[in-house]
Formats: sequence, structure tokens, C-alpha cells
Amino acid sequence: MKAATRFIHAGVEPDPSTGAIMTPIYQTSTYVQQAPGKNKGYEYARSQNPTRFALEKAMAEIENGKYGLVFSSGVAATDAVIKLLQPGDEVIAGNDMYGGTYRLFTKVFEKFGIKFSYVNMQDVANINAAITANTKLIWTETPTNPLMNITDIAATAEMAKANNVLLCVDNTFASPYLQNPLDLGADIVMHSATKYLGGHSDVIQGSLVINDSALRDQLYFIQKSCGAVPGPQDCFLVLRGIKTLHVRMQRHCENGETIAHFLRSHPKVAKVYWCGFEDHPGYAIARKQMRGFGGMMSFELKDDSKEAAEKLLSSTRLFALAESLGGVESLINHPATMTHASIPREERIKNGLSDSLIRLSVGIEDAEDLMEDLQQALG
Ligand SMILES: *Cc1c(COP(=O)(O)O)cnc(C)c1O
Repeated sequence: MKAATRFIHAGVEPDPSTGAIMTPIYQTSTYVQQAPGKNKGYEYARSQNPTRFALEKAMAEIENGKYGLVFSSGVAATDAVIKLLQPGDEVIAGNDMYGGTYRLFTKVFEKFGIKFSYVNMQDVANINAAITANTKLIWTETPTNPLMNITDIAATAEMAKANNVLLCVDNTFASPYLQNPLDLGADIVMHSATKYLGGHSDVIQGSLVINDSALRDQLYFIQKSCGAVPGPQDCFLVLRGIKTLHVRMQRHCENGETIAHFLRSHPKVAKVYWCGFEDHPGYAIARKQMRGFGGMMSFELKDDSKEAAEKLLSSTRLFALAESLGGVESLINHPATMTHASIPREERIKNGLSDSLIRLSVGIEDAEDLMEDLQQALG
């Protein structure tokens, strides 16, 4: 089945009781049982909910995986993966990634005795060099937030397998339309469904997709024991979002390309970080493992003062100044003070995330209107 058909039909079957074409929002906490221990497979909604199950099935289908699990947020999905580990276990993570992931690792899990090392994942040799006898998990984000760096998923997966280490890929920036890490050998795919999957800036949610049934059982156990499950209304919204993911992503890619080239040729812009440029260091790998380059990018102004960045950030009219990404509307963000403020300044600067870096989530509005907005704001 081709992508467009799959995105529309994934996970959804007519409701067995009425034939409703859309999976109903089963807003219930419990299910009446026929006799003690005799039920229809549904006992309590933290463990089972038909709306959530439809979405979990859809997530698995669109990531080419066997099992999906959804959580109350992206970080709750990440939290579940780290809870597979024990004190003393080590995780190798990227040195450029979502600030909230870094915060969860350093501020929550380090105190439980899990160790994290952060490496530049643009070169798989760096990951290989960081592996020790205690390494249990490699956590990679590609493209990275916000510098758009690329990790070679297939090469990392091969190295992870050779060392008996799990590989989890945060696929939020690419979405399942542009990249499918399980096909490249990853063990777990993680998404902040808040972003492209939901697509309309109206829901917080996370998901995991896996192929291995034992790993799925462990993660399901964590999901129901820790309880970070999304409500059925949120599951419905993401199910609906998935139906238009392919159409939205096509436009995000087109608009992203237009805006990236526009910015690059603008006299006030010093550097644009977008993985679709042929001279981007990860371009060849991005071409190999992605079907397009998406609508996320960052840039720096020639005037690298904080004031110049602040002036631009408060001058756009269509690009709204806000955290988050992946919605139909365009957003502009200042990672140093917003999405990545939880990373210490020296760490940020060392890894190339400057105080003047500006991140765009290019939406699906008319590209000329978007260019006009940036033009007036840069002026
Ligand atoms: C937003 C985001 C997360 C966290 O997801 P939430 O839904 O906000 O909890 C994780 N990774 C990336 C790349 C993100 O952009």
C-alpha cells in the first residue's frame, strides 16, 4: 500500500457497535464485566482504551513497525524507554538534542544511577568510541533540534547490534512520512506526537513504535504501571492528524525549501542550518535515509548580537513567537531562551548553539506570504 492510502486508513476500522467511520472517543474509565474475571478484553482504561488502541495500531502501521504505544507527552515516551534500564547502565546520547530530553536525562535519571554521555553523532566513530561494557542504549535524534545535524541511522544500528545495545531514534523532526528508523535497523522509534503527527498545535502526546514483542511487553508494562497514558480525546485528535500527515508534510517540505533558499540569499543572514542544502555536512546521509528535508531550520544573523535576534523575533507578523513546531502555522523561536534554556550556556555554545540562533518551523501557509513576512522583519 502506498503512503497516502496508508496514512488515511491506518489503524481505523468502522466501529463494531454502530459502523461509525471515525473511531469514537471512548470517554470511560472502566468497563462492565459479565462475571468476575470475564470481560471483553477491556478492564480499566489506564490499561485498555479502544480509541488509544486504534491510534497505537495506526502508529505501528505508519512507522512500518509491529507495535505502537502512546503516552501523555513526548517526554513521557522518552521516560518509559529510560525506565527499561537499571542503576549502573549507561546511555550514549547526542550532544545536540531537544532541551527537555537533556533535562530529563541529567536532572531526573542521573540521580537514579543511570549514566549519560553526550557525543557528536554526525560521526558514528564517536558513538563507537563511547561504548563501554555498561552501555545499554544509544539515544539519537535526527535531524537534531535545533541544528539539523544528521546521524547515519543504518550505520549506528549496525554498530549497536554488534555491541548488543538498543538504539532508540527520536523521529519527531522527520515524521514517519519522511523517515522510518525501524526499516534502517533501530529498535525503538520515539515521537513527540505534539508536533507533526498532531499537526494542529492542539494536543500534547508522545509515542513509541517497536518490532520486538518482548521489548513491547516491557514497555507496555511500564506504560500501565507508571500511568502516563493520553486521554481518548487526545488520541482521537492525533488519529485525525495522521490522516493528513502526507499532504501537510509535502507542503512543509516545499515551503521549507523555499524559505531556506530565501534566507540563505538574504544579505543580513550569516548562516542557515537546513539539511537539504547540498553542502550541509549530513546531506548525503539525509538523502539516503529521508524522503524529503522538512520544514525545520535555524539561522544566524550577520549581526550576532542578542539585540538583533530579539528585534527580529518580535518583528514577524505571520511567524508566531512560540515554542513547539510541526503545526500548520509557522512559528519562530529563540532556542537559547526558550526550547533549549534548560541546557547550561557553556554546553550550548560548545555544541554550536549560539545565543543568536533563531529556529523556524515553516508551516503550510502560502510561501510568498511567509517570505514577505521574513523580508519585512529582517528589514
Ligand atoms: C517536543 C519534542 C520532544 C518532547 O515532546 P513533548 O510532546 O513536548 O513532551 C522530544 N523531542 C523532540 C525532538 C521534540 O521536538
